Amino acid sequence: MLVVALTGGVGSGKSSVAVRLGGIGVPVIDADAISRDLTAPGNPVLDLIAEAFGARFIDAAGHLDRAAMRALVFSDTAARARLESILHPRIVLEMQRRLAKLSAPYAVLEIPLLFEAGQTALADRILVVDLPESEQIRRVRHRSGLDVAEIQRIIDSQVPRSQRLEGADDIIDNSGDPQALEEQVNHLHRYYLELAATRYA
Ligand code: ADP
Repeated sequence: MLVVALTGGVGSGKSSVAVRLGGIGVPVIDADAISRDLTAPGNPVLDLIAEAFGARFIDAAGHLDRAAMRALVFSDTAARARLESILHPRIVLEMQRRLAKLSAPYAVLEIPLLFEAGQTALADRILVVDLPESEQIRRVRHRSGLDVAEIQRIIDSQVPRSQRLEGADDIIDNSGDPQALEEQVNHLHRYYLELAATRYA
């Protein structure tokens, strides 16, 4: 099966692309959703997180204090590496487990931090959703109400746009309207079906 990794900066339109692909029947595996499952109450991964960072990151009801964890890993690169060493291998295993159960011409792994996490080898093709930074900021502001400085901080914590584009096999330019996005997704869908039929069958 052809495996496509879908990535892009914050607010670039990954979820919009994933929703469209899902709507036309393409299986989409969401790395962020797996990460949230792994850190949901009752998951043994929380014990590892408590061991590594202290029990204060888990509240009395067993929920991970995501805001505190985010604040820590934003300011402390060693803590970030430690958290990633707990989560990333488990996320990769779960994505592979889900892929193995699929029977489809191609599947999509939605991995927002594909380049940052060094997970490019998981896919046969890398699809980057691209947007100029000013428009990324405008859309994230509209979506979340975060202020510009916070959004800029997130953008700066991700790989630069140029690096993402260099690593791409396929690019969706999402600077147009939703209709233009849909047309590009439909076009790529046909392309991936063709590729799957000729090279990955
Ligand atoms: P990501 O998953 O990459 O963070 P989203 O798909 O959530 O990005 O898109 C970010 C925001 O921009 C959302 O509110 C979405 O509805 C909006 N959006 C996506 N594509 C377009 C577009 N082509 N034109 C206008 N708004 C868009």
